[in-house]
Amino acid sequence: MSLDVATLGHAAVTASFNHLRPCPHDGLERFSVTPMTHWVLMPPSPRLPEALLTTLTAGRARADRLTHTEHLPARDARHAPWPAGIRAEVIDAARELGVAQPWAHQSEAMQLAKNGQTVVIATGTASGKSLGYLAPVLSDLLTGTEASNGRGATALYLAPTKALAADQRRRAAELVPPRVRAALYDGDTPPEEREWVRQYASYVLTNPDMLHRGILPAHPRWASFLKALKYVVVDECHSYRGVFGSHVAQVLRRLRRLCARYGSEPTFLLASATTADPAATARRLTGLPAVAVTEDASPRGPLVFALWEPPLTENVGEHGAPVRRTATAEAGYLLTELVQQNTRTVVFVRSRWAAELVALQAQDQLGSPLGSRVAAYRGGYLAEERRAIERDLHSGRLLGLASTSALELGVDVSGLDAVLMAGYPGTRASLWQQAGRAGREGQGALAVLIARDDPLDTYLVHHPEALFATPVEATVLDPDNPHVLAPHLCAAAAELPLTDADLDLFGPSTAQLLPVLEQRGLLRRRSDGGWYWTRRERAADSVDLRGSGGSPVQIVEVETGRLLGTVDAAAAHTTVHSGAVHLHQGRTYLVRDLDLETSVALVERADPPYTTSARDITSISVLTTDETVEWGEARLSFGSVEVVNQVVGYLRKRIATGEIMGETKLDLPPRTLRTRAVWWSVTEEQLADAEIPFDLLPGAAHAAEHASIGLLPLFATCDRWDIGGVSVPLHPDTLLPTVFVYDGHSGGAGFAERGYRRAEQWLGATRDAIAACECARGCPSCVQSPKCGNGNDPLDKAAAVRLLDALLAGAPGGPGRASSDGGRAR
Ligand SMILES: [Zn+2]
Ligand SMILES: [Zn+2]
Repeated sequence: MSLDVATLGHAAVTASFNHLRPCPHDGLERFSVTPMTHWVLMPPSPRLPEALLTTLTAGRARADRLTHTEHLPARDARHAPWPAGIRAEVIDAARELGVAQPWAHQSEAMQLAKNGQTVVIATGTASGKSLGYLAPVLSDLLTGTEASNGRGATALYLAPTKALAADQRRRAAELVPPRVRAALYDGDTPPEEREWVRQYASYVLTNPDMLHRGILPAHPRWASFLKALKYVVVDECHSYRGVFGSHVAQVLRRLRRLCARYGSEPTFLLASATTADPAATARRLTGLPAVAVTEDASPRGPLVFALWEPPLTENVGEHGAPVRRTATAEAGYLLTELVQQNTRTVVFVRSRWAAELVALQAQDQLGSPLGSRVAAYRGGYLAEERRAIERDLHSGRLLGLASTSALELGVDVSGLDAVLMAGYPGTRASLWQQAGRAGREGQGALAVLIARDDPLDTYLVHHPEALFATPVEATVLDPDNPHVLAPHLCAAAAELPLTDADLDLFGPSTAQLLPVLEQRGLLRRRSDGGWYWTRRERAADSVDLRGSGGSPVQIVEVETGRLLGTVDAAAAHTTVHSGAVHLHQGRTYLVRDLDLETSVALVERADPPYTTSARDITSISVLTTDETVEWGEARLSFGSVEVVNQVVGYLRKRIATGEIMGETKLDLPPRTLRTRAVWWSVTEEQLADAEIPFDLLPGAAHAAEHASIGLLPLFATCDRWDIGGVSVPLHPDTLLPTVFVYDGHSGGAGFAERGYRRAEQWLGATRDAIAACECARGCPSCVQSPKCGNGNDPLDKAAAVRLLDALLAGAPGGPGRASSDGGRAR
């Protein structure tokens, strides 16, 4: 009997990893319960989380690094009956898997789905969301097999990654007899199999990219599938945010339009991590009114959640600022101790770099043989490398794993004893998703958030209420972005000519965009009133949903010609320029050459004692001002801008200390970005009142800009790398000192708009974060930025607080807030 610990059943959850080993049928990914005597390695021995935490804080004066401990109580399961319409075969199969009765939230979702209601299940990790949508879907597909053609109903499943779709196919196979034909359809599906899938499969599992490029443009070949389409499952839908989410929203509208032409109207079932207002996000994503199921009725063991701030070191960074030990170094220490305690631990880090570094450090400190039970995992590894690592973690051969969030998608790792997060993962939604990997029923677990040296993390470990007493943030996407919408209108017109009846479906910008597309020679309006695609090439090929723009840069090892991985075109200038340090599987490489023509970065093995960080220059101009609000004399605006950025060189920083070793010039072309921005300006009188003379102004505005970029992710599901900023003492468009924060994607992603809508809370938190930092003159925890293209110069922390006070004094919340010190920031 196969079990799925993560998503199906409660009985399954009580079978701990200690008892799991690969199922003999297919080797890797399924697990069966076997007696412990079959075990060859020493199994992890879970200890009470309080005891683990005591170990971590003992000795070496570590106690003051613990800034807060939150005890999250265990939660009991609540069950509900199977709703009418769930077939006996499905119920029996679930019972086989240990699910006697669904949890209440699963039952509610099944009922809504059976009623044809668009529903989004937004509950925690391992709360059985899969069963919630699979039971109604598979029941209806089973009924469909009784139709004369054997395919009376079909369903489409969308996952953000191929790996997750593969995982889901296995889950479906466990719940239904083989006569419901489930099949993967993605870039790896062999051509001879594709025809079979189109003709016979009733449950097709794919990803939005394949739907966009492979299925919708070829819809006549999918006619019988689309005609019978009863359900569309959108799994992990919180990952459809920003530009990517906006693209996916338009792909789903194209799907709905084609279904309507074939006479079907599928019910959309969405599964999400816990987010604020999931119903609104589901509506934005699908264009349909949606009901949210948010009350999690699955059981949970107690979780001890610790907030941890690494100590200041003796080292000094840029401009003499004090430097904290990095979150990755601290995570390496904590991982070492936990592995020594025989505790199965995953460390989540924010970058590929950090994953490699944490694993290396723990391996070093543990020595042989324990060191060999720690590894790194991240997206960008080749499939075989990833599979081997996953297998070892499941089998228990691996005790410690340092991973980017790649692990969140498509890999089933739950029931861990401890989760470390080296740096805030950017959103509370991801924080809870990562922490949710720790713990299983009836047993406590430990989660530790280790602060990075930046304003947001510092703010959070000193304001636990911002994590534990604040609802998770909303998933932000903007399907109306014309840069996103335009290519989908072309793709839609190529699928079936657009008519006036389609205008509503694609949103309010559609009517203005169509004539523009006609002027550009992309669409042509014929006498029947329809808009037609006129080009020979495929319209769908003109857009990449992942929104990176341009083909990814391949990283190739000079000596062997081996492909190590890829980076996005947008990130290439800053991460794989000539001379950059690149890490792969614990090995260090130097970039010998970045060839922009062929999109190849040639790297060679090296062991430099430094990391590199790019320096750039940025200019910004206002194209349109869409909205403005006056805060007393100050003004806050939202609109469109053009940003021109050029990477001009890089700094070498010593690994251990962050100390600057030198700077090298680069000759790379400028890149232009048209996007959306929020900006604010103050008057000369306000500056005079705030005692900010002109020579202090650049440092004040620059520091306020950095910190505000750091804090925006508290209000929108972005991270600081999704947004950029520019501060100008006298901007030619506003004729005033102005600070801009912009979306780092063409056409915008909704983040700057969110900053504009929540400006008072956002800039208030920014002001409080700077004021509360214990450093004297600015440090990475407040106003220094790791991505500053100016080497963090000039920065004036004290003047930045006065500048923000001057700005906020006229905000609706009014004067007086300026005297607050922290705390008010939410
Ligand atoms: Zn500071
Ligand atoms: Zn800067």
